[in-house]
Amino acid sequence: MARYTDASCRLCRRENLKLFLKGDRCYGDKCAFERRPYPPGQHGQRRGGKYSDYQLQLREKQKVKRIYGVLERQFRRYYERAEKQKGITGTNLLMLLECRLDNMVYRMGFASSRTQARQLVRHSHFLVNKRKVNMPSFQVKVGDVVEVREGSRKLPVILEAMETVVRRGIPSWVEVDKENFRGTLKALPTREELTMPIQEQLIVELYSK
Ligand code: SF4
Repeated sequence: MARYTDASCRLCRRENLKLFLKGDRCYGDKCAFERRPYPPGQHGQRRGGKYSDYQLQLREKQKVKRIYGVLERQFRRYYERAEKQKGITGTNLLMLLECRLDNMVYRMGFASSRTQARQLVRHSHFLVNKRKVNMPSFQVKVGDVVEVREGSRKLPVILEAMETVVRRGIPSWVEVDKENFRGTLKALPTREELTMPIQEQLIVELYSK
């Protein structure tokens, strides 16, 4: 019998939500959250009860950090930047995370998870507006073109991701030209278009203390 040992899957179980950290596996019956939808650990099944406001805020922040694969210090910097921008801080925060290059590569279907996208970007498999970029945190702007480098177009991981992206779909705010291995950020998504159950206001409350 297959045994559940995966650290990423523990994060989903901890957050009580599918975070889609393992690519295609997340859509199949091997998904650990589908099989054990309760927190990991010896007392996982017995946990319950009420969370304090602080605990809820903290969990929400952890959840978003894990979805986008961002560490605490960097996340905090995103928050500070979001706070300085015009508009709603929580929405600004999500937009900054969405515009990371690794997230764009994932959204465009050139990688099957954000973790994989991050690795591919670090290994210089992508161009942005024809220039090599290997920083996963690079901010993609509306109109920017993200492209798989010529020499990387036969990489099995990229080809496989492009095949299997139909399972999750490509969002409406990006346009993908599969034949030419490129995608464009057409517009920023609206808050309603980001469908992961995130209560960003809780994060704002946490950091505003
Ligand atoms: Fe693991 Fe993906 Fe399922 Fe999360 S959604 S538990 S990462 S397989």
